Amino acid sequence: MSAAQQAGPASSHGNDHWNAIDWRAVERTVRGLQVRITKAVLEKDWRRVKALQRFLSRSFAGRAMAVRRVTENRGRDTPGIDGELWSTPIGKYGAIDRLKQRRGYQPKPLRRVYIPKANGKKRPLGIPTMLDRAMQALHLLGLIPVAESTGDANSYGFRPMRSTADAAEQCFKVLSGHANCARWVLEGDIEGCFDNIDHDWLLAHVPMDKDVLRKWLTSGVVDMGQFRPTTAGTPQGGIISPTLANFALDGLEKALTDRFGRKGTRKGNRNKVNLVRYADDFIVTGCSKELLETEVQPLVRAFLAERGLRLSAEKTRITHIDQGFDFLGWNVRKYGGKILIKPARKNVKAFVTKVREIIQQHKAVAQTFLIMQLNPVIRGWANYHRSQVASEIFHTVDRVVWYLLYRWAKRRHPNKSSRWVLEKYFRQINGRSWYFATERISADGRKVGMPLVRASDFKIKRHVKIISDANPFDPAWDDYFAKRRHDNLLATHGHKGEFTALFKRQQGLCLRCQSPLTAESGWHVHHVQRRIDGGSDKLDNKALLHKVCHVQHHHPLSVTLPVPNKDLAEA
Ligand SMILES: [Zn+2]
Repeated sequence: MSAAQQAGPASSHGNDHWNAIDWRAVERTVRGLQVRITKAVLEKDWRRVKALQRFLSRSFAGRAMAVRRVTENRGRDTPGIDGELWSTPIGKYGAIDRLKQRRGYQPKPLRRVYIPKANGKKRPLGIPTMLDRAMQALHLLGLIPVAESTGDANSYGFRPMRSTADAAEQCFKVLSGHANCARWVLEGDIEGCFDNIDHDWLLAHVPMDKDVLRKWLTSGVVDMGQFRPTTAGTPQGGIISPTLANFALDGLEKALTDRFGRKGTRKGNRNKVNLVRYADDFIVTGCSKELLETEVQPLVRAFLAERGLRLSAEKTRITHIDQGFDFLGWNVRKYGGKILIKPARKNVKAFVTKVREIIQQHKAVAQTFLIMQLNPVIRGWANYHRSQVASEIFHTVDRVVWYLLYRWAKRRHPNKSSRWVLEKYFRQINGRSWYFATERISADGRKVGMPLVRASDFKIKRHVKIISDANPFDPAWDDYFAKRRHDNLLATHGHKGEFTALFKRQQGLCLRCQSPLTAESGWHVHHVQRRIDGGSDKLDNKALLHKVCHVQHHHPLSVTLPVPNKDLAEA
């Protein structure tokens, strides 16, 4: 029984309201406004951009989306300084209303918490309240289409539909090829980028409601009961912060091409200056060390200085491509004239350390439980690297992990033989080598193997880079992105046989509303005939529904609330 059904009659009304929201209409409305903002940006009609942003931030659809976003994401169980969480449908529905406040809006200071770091030190984090998070999510809806239309083409971090793998492919693209491509790389490292961005610069340049932005920037922090003002940097822990940082760093690509020429022009081909950026992590290629040292670096420094930022003296380096450099957990290096991108040594080491720690922390648990702890970690790591030259390292890592687990098993049975331990904890799967594996009983009563996944089970698959100029809010690119969403989802969830089979059978569409299933929308495996009514657990009784469609399917009593008409009217 769901929480909504358990609640008494007095509260069921509010529950119905949240559960009855027509999310497809909400998404359509928000999307429609974002498309119109994009059109206005491309036409440089900034007055219209502002009007549409204001309209979106006041709309029911925008407010509902913002509440959904902050109550579905990972931080939803961590309260801000007011201790408030929006965990019930009533709380969520009420929050939509509270986002109406504008003039009187005053963000609360951040709650300071400390996260232990690997080196024993502690990293400070700032946690905004739910209301402030939702307010940021709301304004971000109107800001992100502007960011997507004006951002640097080769910036890949914290942007919809872009990933680290895209950034790596771009490195490959600008560094590989014939003998006359760029050989030198400036590895940029900005000192505490998020903490130091100049407030006046942001207020002067970020196209959004300035009053609200100013309030966020200066909301301050409460640390051990003490209030401290914030004087620089983006709002910590805020959903909008990465986008604000992107705004601050966008324009560097243009500054570089204006000075050193665009790829494909004679000047550009001579200097070979290309920027690849992921949030505050970036590289700039160049034809010589001198060019990077005496011309590119000063330009980058001046660009950053305007925004209150500095390059770190010790971490900013100029490297020859035969020596290689680390970027986003990978090592990019030329071997005998060929660029290879492999998992960086540091990254591999950190991964093995993490696996070792998990094994050590679970000395006495059931094998099944240990496997359940390790599988997502191994899967996540392997998925991250599978687009690169990783197969050798995958095999090495598998051997190391195998040995750690063998020792784990052996220690539990000091008086048993190695053979006995092997046969108890390991299984030969498909006639192949010994997997660390156990058995579980499947839903239909069969015994099925439950092995530890191996990195080398992941086939290396070249990532297809996003087209640098593609804009997810410009309808001209709709088909392109629909295909990419479809392919990405299959690639990241390919290990789930059931999901893949259903997804293909439904051609990637939700069975209830017939619109595409995406990573953002999430999904639920739905039993067509309910299990209690004798429905089977086999594939032919299952279907994929959006999460929100699934909730609505099980609340047939609710009447779908129409999105208020004024949302659909012209702004
Ligand atoms: Zn649906």
